[in-house]
Amino acid sequence: MDRTTYTMMSFKESIINSNVKRILILGTAYSLVEIIGLILSTLGYFESDIRLYVSIVVLFHIVYLPVLLYIFLKKDQFKTKVLEILEKIYFPIIIVWGSLFTVLVYIEAQDITIYTIIILICGGMFVVKPIYSRLLFSGGLMVFSIMIYISASSIPIANALIFKALIVTGIGYIISSANYRIRYELHQKNAQLENINETLKDQVLRDSLTGLYNNSYIFEYIDNAIEMAIQYGKDFSVLMIDIDDFKAVNDHYGHLEGDYVIKKVADIILKETRDFDITARYGGEEFIVVLNNSDLKQAKVIAERILLTIGSTVFNFNEHITVSIGTAQWERDNRNTLIQKADDKLYEAKDNGKNCVR
Ligand code: GH3
Ligand code: MG
Ligand code: MG
Repeated sequence: MDRTTYTMMSFKESIINSNVKRILILGTAYSLVEIIGLILSTLGYFESDIRLYVSIVVLFHIVYLPVLLYIFLKKDQFKTKVLEILEKIYFPIIIVWGSLFTVLVYIEAQDITIYTIIILICGGMFVVKPIYSRLLFSGGLMVFSIMIYISASSIPIANALIFKALIVTGIGYIISSANYRIRYELHQKNAQLENINETLKDQVLRDSLTGLYNNSYIFEYIDNAIEMAIQYGKDFSVLMIDIDDFKAVNDHYGHLEGDYVIKKVADIILKETRDFDITARYGGEEFIVVLNNSDLKQAKVIAERILLTIGSTVFNFNEHITVSIGTAQWERDNRNTLIQKADDKLYEAKDNGKNCVR
């Protein structure tokens, strides 16, 4: 999955999640208020001629919200589609209900407040894709208009109400589109920032010429490796690798060519070590390798392999270069003494005429 698909997927999921949370909160709050209203009006505290309609919508919420909550909490066990469908059907249902409620109760007063509130809630509180939003609002307006034509006492009254509904629906759609665009852009910007963060984090840990880890990373890595070795009793070793007579390469072929050699040697070390070994550029033309799960014998085998491959590689200037390698196994040393041991061995290799493993 490439980064863009991943971003789109997570955006879709994030808007479904936030919509579901809002439906749960708003739906619960609305139902509670209506239940209290129903109780108070039943007890005679105020007059209400809409108890039946309110009861129907409260009943719907009493069934719908727990199902939605259950699927939301257990969403790992269901396909995302299930939650998405459940979330998407809420909007047409409340729009149709708002339209019906309006024509049944308020058409005589030519009042479309309920429809307006529901349209504005759909546009402002929830984030839906523009295509779905178009379908939702135009479909809603159509259904509402038909209901008005059927129920209004005259065609001019119906026309006036539909004109009002058209304006409200248009505003709802504009809010909905703006809402979506803002959320989408925010999501994209966040994804970009995350990417940049990852790259920066990586850059701080790596050497720019070779792409290998740098000293500060390898020091921390060795400290961790020591802790793990103490805890689990596993062997590990380090290699200290230094290019022989590198000054001469720089002197004869220039600094750029020297850089190229360092890069190529780094690539060879990476290729000749295993996925679970860690290589860092220790200094100018020196490298350090941490060989996990390896005793001195295994370390020497890997070191010889690196030495042979570098020795047989032909570089740009048609000459061979060699390296010297010091090896050391961790024997309850601390980080500095371990590195010192490998360094001492490297000097032994240099004293021994270079191009060898010690
Ligand atoms: P030895 O066999 O004893 O290791 O000899 P050497 O010439 O390799 O050793 P020395 O440490 O004296 O020289 C290393 C040289 O590496 C010195 C420095 O100019 C060069 N060097 C260090 N960093 C870089 C770099 O990033 N690029 C290039 N081109 N050269 C570098
Ligand atoms: Mg050198
Ligand atoms: Mg050196």
